[in-house]
Amino acid sequence: MSVLRLAIPSPLRRYFDYLPPPGLAAADLARLAPGIRLRVPFGRREVTGYLLEVRGDSDAPEGSLKPALELLDDQSLLSPELFDLCEWAAAYYHHPPGEVFQAAFPRRLREGKAPLPAGERAYRLTTRGRGLAPDALARSPRQAQAVALLRGAAAVAATALKDAGVNSSVLRSLRDKDLVQECHLDAPPTPPTARPGLAPNREQAAAIAAVQAAAGAFSCHLLEGVTGSGKTEVYLQLIADCIGRGQAALVLIPEIGLTPQTVARFESRFDTTIAVLHSGLSDAQRYQAWEHARTGRAPIVIGTRSAVFTPLQNLGLVIVDEEHDSSFKQQDGFRYSARDVAIKRAQLNDCPVLLGSATPSLESIHNAELGRYAHHPLTQRAGGSELPTIRVLDVRKQALQAGLSDALIAQLEATLGAGKQALLFLNRRGYAPTLQCHDCGWVAQCTACDARLTVHRRRRALRCHHCGAGHPLTQRCPHCHSNQLLTAGLGTEQSDDFLRARFPHFRVHRVDSDSMSGRDAMQSLVDDINRGEPCILLGTQMLTKGHHFPGVSLVAVIDADAMLFSADFRGEERMAQLLTQVAGRAGRAGTRGEVLLQTHYPDHPAVVALLAHDYAAHARRLLAQRRERGLPPVGQMLVLRTDCPDAAWGEQFLAQLRRAAERRLPAGVHLIGPLPSPMPRRAGRFRSQLLVGAPARPQAQAAAGVLVEAAQGLPVKHSLNWSIDIDPQDIF
Ligand code: ADP
Ligand code: ZN
Ligand code: ZN
Repeated sequence: MSVLRLAIPSPLRRYFDYLPPPGLAAADLARLAPGIRLRVPFGRREVTGYLLEVRGDSDAPEGSLKPALELLDDQSLLSPELFDLCEWAAAYYHHPPGEVFQAAFPRRLREGKAPLPAGERAYRLTTRGRGLAPDALARSPRQAQAVALLRGAAAVAATALKDAGVNSSVLRSLRDKDLVQECHLDAPPTPPTARPGLAPNREQAAAIAAVQAAAGAFSCHLLEGVTGSGKTEVYLQLIADCIGRGQAALVLIPEIGLTPQTVARFESRFDTTIAVLHSGLSDAQRYQAWEHARTGRAPIVIGTRSAVFTPLQNLGLVIVDEEHDSSFKQQDGFRYSARDVAIKRAQLNDCPVLLGSATPSLESIHNAELGRYAHHPLTQRAGGSELPTIRVLDVRKQALQAGLSDALIAQLEATLGAGKQALLFLNRRGYAPTLQCHDCGWVAQCTACDARLTVHRRRRALRCHHCGAGHPLTQRCPHCHSNQLLTAGLGTEQSDDFLRARFPHFRVHRVDSDSMSGRDAMQSLVDDINRGEPCILLGTQMLTKGHHFPGVSLVAVIDADAMLFSADFRGEERMAQLLTQVAGRAGRAGTRGEVLLQTHYPDHPAVVALLAHDYAAHARRLLAQRRERGLPPVGQMLVLRTDCPDAAWGEQFLAQLRRAAERRLPAGVHLIGPLPSPMPRRAGRFRSQLLVGAPARPQAQAAAGVLVEAAQGLPVKHSLNWSIDIDPQDIF
């Protein structure tokens, strides 16, 4: 008996067995490739499943197996390596395999539709047409001429037939007689070419040579280059080399780094199709980019997180830009790290992977220190610009206006007066994070989350930044009816108001997710700013990546302290990364930039490190601390989470899980919890977590297996969700 083992999109962490579709010959069965899609019955629905393997037997009782309904592909649309990658990711992240396979397909194909033919429309003879006697069409000379033309080739493009004088009515007649059929030519893509790059400096040349020399085998490289040191130039030259060898390159970029400016830089270097994949595409656009990559028409793919699963022909190089960026980790559903999947992908494809960053993650620094990654530092800014000077503005006891000290205001005045641009960073949108009653102490809270509501004055609203709930901005305290409502804390709207009033002759551009909707908004703003008029840019993280503002000479961090007291063990690492990236926006062209940092803690190590332009040394100190505490990346971690409508259920479930699994866990694994999550209630659901620490990856993986198995065996209250997060990013 032959059985098809399939991955089915469902919350169950297992594969499903089916009988072959009726009428499938045994010879065809043997040829079914892993990764092909099938339509199958599942519960009361019909779904698209993905073939894992054809087996001789099943664990399920024989009579219980249902037949698959239909084969959807003749050949797998995924290469064997990409198939293996999906299988690996499902196992490593302990995620339902059907949902992982789904991540590799665009919606059209997930829905079980046929791939759209790519390439040029063409015609070919049918079997009947090929077998036609030479004089069979003697009475229709134009049809005979067309058949003669088609006999000379496997297929002829519609345009070529037209040029040869074959009109569409002739083709229609031949089609009606089943002698000719329409098809599509997969035109060989024109060989891609690259325009010459810049002459690399010594450090760039060393990095390029090392990665080039590693072509054809797996190796991992860390390109640790200060902001503006020419990392992108290194990528471009390696991609040129890769496509020149006839191979394809995959480039991953954080969501906010993938700007039209970035794409334009790649497009102007290469004379070939580049497939760009990001979350802002329509289904049709996404499908087309995916097909271009899969068929080899686009030898370069640039995309955000999910692009790591794009099929490519003959992958020869993987690049992860800003590899430290937390947007590479998916935070819900299939919780994978695109950076780590990219590394696995390079391994399965026998090619090098290059991780680039001015502020590498401690994970990557650790791997470089262990010699698992080759380390290529770029210590100088390229192209003659200098690193900015950095100064701390100690704001203790200083008067602040909308968060700005007199010294900062004076510096802004000088910058604008000199015809230059200034960029102010404040990572909190809205007007103020708190609304409070002066008379009774009432504070505006979200009714669905354990969180305060943010005041948005422009929209006269109170908004929850966690669940999105919105309420009208009240004028009176709902508790004591006083009208003495005060705001506390600072958001971009407030600084924006102040700056407009203080600098009425200059434009103030506020850049946050409230003011920028749609990709075009950002692009037109960038174009506007890059005309060079003196102005103030005020914004959140949105400003810190991917955009190149040559006219900006002053960068100021309004509230560096906001990042200092994170409870997460990665807090300091994140702060050092963010500050370094923000500072890196200054003085990227010609004139030397200046960075000002407002803080109450001028002696904080992250601040001191920034002053010394020494992220590298600071990160290594943080790594030593992690080592002492057995925290990632030295020790391993995973977390089981629950969310449900009742506060007690989640903790009960996790406590049961702990009891069920505890004795079977490998040595050295320890559990913490169950505990309420950092924000225990969000969008009306109560959240709890069980933290798992392990000395190394094998124990962490074994523990994950035990816990998932135990969780699947526990009775689950309806409406309780549980999930496992391997290598979690945010835990405390
Ligand atoms: P990064 O990606 O590290 O931020 P970029 O690749 O954007 O740096 O380079 C910063 C600037 O330096 C760009 O304007 C780039 O054109 C220029 N540049 C990079 N490499 C060189 C080089 N070898 N010679 C001259 N200019 C360079
Ligand atoms: Zn009140
Ligand atoms: Zn809320």
